[in-house]
Amino acid sequence: MKVHEYQAKELFVERGLPVPRGKVATTAEEAEAIAKELGGAVVVKAQVHVGGRGKAGGVKLASGPAEAKEKAAAILGMDIKGLTVEKVLVTEAVDIEEEYYIGLIMDRASKQPMFIVSAAGGVDIEQVAATTPEKILKLGIDPRYGVKPFQLRRLAFSVSQDPAVVKGMSQALSVLYDVFMKSDASLVEINPFVKTKDGKTWSVDAKLNIDDNALFRQPQIAAMRDLAEEDSDEMEAKEAGLSFVKLDGNIGCLVNGAGLAMATMDLVQHFGGMPANFLDIGGSSNPEKVVTAMKIILRDPQVEAILFNIFGGITRCDDVAAGLLKATEQLDVKLPIVARLTGTNEEKAREMLQGSALVPAVTMDEAVQKALELAGGAQ
Ligand code: GDP
Ligand code: MN
Repeated sequence: MKVHEYQAKELFVERGLPVPRGKVATTAEEAEAIAKELGGAVVVKAQVHVGGRGKAGGVKLASGPAEAKEKAAAILGMDIKGLTVEKVLVTEAVDIEEEYYIGLIMDRASKQPMFIVSAAGGVDIEQVAATTPEKILKLGIDPRYGVKPFQLRRLAFSVSQDPAVVKGMSQALSVLYDVFMKSDASLVEINPFVKTKDGKTWSVDAKLNIDDNALFRQPQIAAMRDLAEEDSDEMEAKEAGLSFVKLDGNIGCLVNGAGLAMATMDLVQHFGGMPANFLDIGGSSNPEKVVTAMKIILRDPQVEAILFNIFGGITRCDDVAAGLLKATEQLDVKLPIVARLTGTNEEKAREMLQGSALVPAVTMDEAVQKALELAGGAQ
């Protein structure tokens, strides 16, 4: 789960990290009033769950209330990478002299939190990492001992020798570690962390991603959830007890079990195709789940064939077959469907599907190859 910049900044402020004052507005008039209250120049910032808002025109400087109103009117309602801007953060503008990147991620390779710092802040850190990796410094932290002040100072010194920056950044890094550990984050970053012309340091931007599996024990973070920012198909799937991830291909996959779902996707790619999604209907075999799953898959205009791959263990193939028949009946499916149902009650399932338009398959290879053929060959 992602939270907005203003929400991540609340967590920073709670821990004493200096963040330019600001408030959220949903109308241009509100933005104007906030700018008046703050006084001086402000920055109007789109609050959407994507990076690169600045480049997309979603971050604009305004000299005062009138201009803040104008900029907010332009940004509210704007589309940034497929998301509509519903809120803007109006925040005091700072006079930036230097921009740094500081962040903390869960590093899967070393299985520990890892700090990432760079003097090349303010721009795409992925691009810096790809073109000039020497400008990025990393330090893994053993969570058993936590982070030590000397480690924070060493990191800060590695990007700046300015005492004000070292002091401010050490504090910011310490706050990042605290937020990261206490909120079960997978990523927290400040880009840019800036030094102003009057020698102060500020966290100008904030990003925080939380591990969804930890949300049950993170009530403060869970309350920050903004459903308008999330993929509606993925949400509907979650409510129905399905795990669904949208992908770019043309083969709609409906599988039971995450392992089998991944193996199915691998096989689709092996035979030269591209899966349209990952979808695991889970262990139970409630026919309603199959109907919901089909609805979600059919909404994707790229899908040209649907591949059912069910291994009946706890799941009963006849239940899945019932769901399949119900779904094709209810949804008026015009796309070809290949069904491989194997395991518990597979004979019964086969009987039920006889005479339907579904294309049966016995092995996984056969099922995948048939689906690719029916979708118009490998891509
Ligand atoms: P992002 O593009 O989504 O990462 O949004 P940021 O909050 O990082 O803003 C983008 C850029 O706008 C920053 O890299 C800064 O260069 C600039 N910016 C943001 N806030 C201020 C500010 O208070 N003063 C000035 N001068 N520039 C700012
Ligand atoms: Mn940024």
